Amino acid sequence: MTGSDAQSDSNCDSSSDSGQDFVRDIISGDLRDGRVASVVTRFPPEPNGYLHIGHAKSICLNFGVAAEFGGRCHLRFDDTNPAREDQEYIDSIQRDVRWLGFDWGDHLHYASDYFQQLYDWAEHLIQAGKAYVDDLSVEDMRAYRGTVTEAGRDSPFRGRSVDENLDLFRRMRDGEFPDGACVLRAKIDMASGNMNLRDPVLYRILRATHPRTGDDWRIYPNYDFAHGQSDAIEGITHSLCTLEFADHRPLYDWLLENLPTPSTPRQYEFARLNLAYTVLSKRRLMQLVDDGHVTGWDDPRMPSLAGLRRRGVPPEAIREFVARIGVARADSIIEMAQLENCIRENLNKAAQRRMAVLNPLKIVIENYPEGETEILSAVNNPEDETAGTRDIIFSREIFIEHEDFMEDPPRKFFRMTPGREVRLRYAYFITCTEIIKNDAGEVVELRCTYDPATRGGNAPDGRKVKATLHWASAAASVKTEIRVYDHLFAKPDPGAGGGDFVDDLNPASLTVLTGCMAEPAVRDAEPGIPIQFERQGYFCADPDSTPDHPVFNRTVGLRDAWARVQTQDQKKGGGQQKQKEKKQRNGADGGT
Ligand code: ATP
Ligand code: MG
Repeated sequence: MTGSDAQSDSNCDSSSDSGQDFVRDIISGDLRDGRVASVVTRFPPEPNGYLHIGHAKSICLNFGVAAEFGGRCHLRFDDTNPAREDQEYIDSIQRDVRWLGFDWGDHLHYASDYFQQLYDWAEHLIQAGKAYVDDLSVEDMRAYRGTVTEAGRDSPFRGRSVDENLDLFRRMRDGEFPDGACVLRAKIDMASGNMNLRDPVLYRILRATHPRTGDDWRIYPNYDFAHGQSDAIEGITHSLCTLEFADHRPLYDWLLENLPTPSTPRQYEFARLNLAYTVLSKRRLMQLVDDGHVTGWDDPRMPSLAGLRRRGVPPEAIREFVARIGVARADSIIEMAQLENCIRENLNKAAQRRMAVLNPLKIVIENYPEGETEILSAVNNPEDETAGTRDIIFSREIFIEHEDFMEDPPRKFFRMTPGREVRLRYAYFITCTEIIKNDAGEVVELRCTYDPATRGGNAPDGRKVKATLHWASAAASVKTEIRVYDHLFAKPDPGAGGGDFVDDLNPASLTVLTGCMAEPAVRDAEPGIPIQFERQGYFCADPDSTPDHPVFNRTVGLRDAWARVQTQDQKKGGGQQKQKEKKQRNGADGGT
């Protein structure tokens, strides 16, 4: 599916009364008809990994609707599985939600805050004859559960008396039984068409130190027993979750009906975000980290919020992306290009411009006085006048991008070639007069002449050039490392068709360029502050950066006009000549 297909699909699916989406329709209806007095939502992460951009969809939805409708949104950790949870994740999740731009105020909650209440409610169900302690082994329980086409069978322990169940459950709590010896199950319906209602497990025995409750508990509630009741305790009105929980909704409702909860929230499901060429699953991302396929959760190739932040993606671009993809009930795969467009649009306004040459080719300007330098003025951001200008240094020896020179160019290549005049951005018109090659016949240096009358980059006689090149002065540049990223996976749907998703990793997802030459100003660049290296893309300093060894991440490239011409040519075999030449000129001269 292409990006625009995915987009129109979700728009179609989410078409609604308000022109927004079905969630907002439901909420505005509930408020209008007085079913709820004010909207209360929650974002409920399990602290067993870092957040990824899929979570951002849920965060923006939950915090977004609360803000739009004058309600509130809680951050609640669903911390019911101490075997996999850690304080590191609790901290990172809070940091990431704040970074995205959201605030939970006083409403930071933990399911573990409710462990005693949940325990009491479990006893309540037992007293009502609606829960029992089951000693079946895991395998037997699975066998008794039946299949989607076949009803399950009652466990031989289903008929235990209330007193016996109470006694056993209390002894589970008190640590009398080993892990896995028995569980507490709801007594619902072993023949239900919904597998989640075939006497689901509510509590299991687990000796694990919990990040918050330590060793206080030896039994822990399952997700289903904790989630809805936590919602009810907090007065959540709209419990928004992803589609895979739709089959759990009858259980969510059954528990609320059968327990004396202080409120009755309703659950609604929306489609998860899926992004092409990456994976959005904490378990899989964790595997990439643990097995060293990436450098960590904040590896700039990761779709984690920490990775995106390190790569230089601004939170505003993520919020805009989430707003554009919308909220729908049908699953789709979104193209990475949609995210990249949001990033470019945001950074185009925000980023100051600098010049850096990634793959330097040395030029000596033979008629420029030896040993002399001069200061020229460069615009910091053509999109923002208040960003002002900066000084750049020009000298006899400079670098241009290797790709900007061709000795024997095809038609439509308008950059430097022997005898053709081009513009050096903010500097002069120069013309290549001589090529110097090494023994292998590779171009290693160019000799040029410049026209002193074109200072600042314009000819007084009005003559035009077709290309404007960025450059770096040999007299005043900083050697810089630049990390260029490609998709983390080589396939749009990693692991599809039953393969191991790890086999689909893109071996070329990281290219480290070590010999880049950049303006001295980049020494002061700070992580999180975007920079556009003219004609190359948007970059930001990596935390590995030092003034002596600046390191930049490429956040996203610019659209390369020449690459576009080449691909169009390959596709169409060279038709529509005139139009493309014009496009190319604009691209090369525009410099953005
Ligand atoms: P993962 O599959 O990555 O482990 P999860 O659902 O187990 O995710 P939770 O910590 O339980 O992770 O998720 C917190 C909330 O974020 C849940 O309400 C979940 O539905 C939502 N969420 C998780 N992944 C996505 C996604 N890709 N798109 C939208 N919402 C998501
Ligand atoms: Mg989950």
